[in-house]
Amino acid sequence: MSNLIQLLPDHIANQIAAGEVIQRPASVVKELMENAIDAQAMKIDVNIKEAGKSLIQVVDNGAGMSPDDAELCFARHATSKVRKADDLFALSTKGFRGEALASIAAISHVQMNTKRQSDATSICIEIEGSKIKLKEESVTPTGTSFQVKNLFYNVPARRNFLKSNQVEFRHIQDEFERVALAHPEVHFTLIHNDNELHNLTPGVLRKRIVDVMGRKSNDRLVPIEETSDIVKLSGYVLKPEFSRKTRGEQYFFVNNRFFKSGFFNHAIAKAFEGLLKDRYFPSYFIYLEVDASKIDVNVHPTKTEIKFEEEKYIYSILLSSIRQALGRYNIAPTLDFDRETSFDVPASVRTQTPIEP
Ligand code: ADP
Ligand code: MG
Repeated sequence: MSNLIQLLPDHIANQIAAGEVIQRPASVVKELMENAIDAQAMKIDVNIKEAGKSLIQVVDNGAGMSPDDAELCFARHATSKVRKADDLFALSTKGFRGEALASIAAISHVQMNTKRQSDATSICIEIEGSKIKLKEESVTPTGTSFQVKNLFYNVPARRNFLKSNQVEFRHIQDEFERVALAHPEVHFTLIHNDNELHNLTPGVLRKRIVDVMGRKSNDRLVPIEETSDIVKLSGYVLKPEFSRKTRGEQYFFVNNRFFKSGFFNHAIAKAFEGLLKDRYFPSYFIYLEVDASKIDVNVHPTKTEIKFEEEKYIYSILLSSIRQALGRYNIAPTLDFDRETSFDVPASVRTQTPIEP
């Protein structure tokens, strides 16, 4: 009997991989934004039409690509971020699988323009269902821009299962905000159907949180800060009285990467114990910095679950530092460092010399 096994052609393999990496328009937005961050962009503009069903455009002013790389980046397992197996254990980039662009190009129509600082002209590539349709010189600024149209044009099952524009756009906004909250030093804009929804200018973390969440949130944040050999912890929790009935505003980042963790969430819920109304959830923006070799981000293709070597230790640091911060705030709820506190002290008291305890 003859042999039956064949290797899948690339465009089919890419389409299968795409099923894992690209679930919906928001996945494209996430992958393209993360690539822009990895390319050291300082400004990233996201332009969406019809919740990404007709257009997803991401423009960055990052490093750009050489003309050869501009073509190679769409091949599967093509990455500039991992060279040897050891690199997988000390990742400092968002991407490393080299799957995103191959996947996106397999199931949509993509136009990409890219130029490095040192090049005089840029390269424009058009690719549809993994096939290159055009490659030519063009004139665009330094950096890279992607236009993704007709997403899932050749995967009707996926296209038909997309939710309403409102729901799909909500997912896009979530991904956008996660990346923006992880990188306060980068300028981001988000436009949907010609309306500018975000224009986040660079600044400190507190400013970025307030710019994303709304001006009112400024007075509601309680800072968290703790440093040990194993983890550097920073960020904010929302004062308990502003907690919500939904889990919306719960953000963990490790080394500037958003992740989800039921385990760490439990530590925070515990720190809030006794301070929340029944069925209310704490809101938080928690940033961990740990040695990249002590975490494994290679758990899932969409990478929101992360394994921590020292998770029990981090749990207890989270619990104790948040408890402390909330305690401090509860004892002195008006002690707000942004305010001129001396105005709160009656004039008569202000002139007296304080008595030593
Ligand atoms: P990964 O991010 O896992 O490496 P991708 O498929 O997302 O895989 O990207 C493949 C490669 O294309 C990247 O490793 C990078 O070298 C290059 N690349 C992708 N997007 C950009 C960008 N916006 N600017 C510069 N280079 C990029
Ligand atoms: Mg990537």
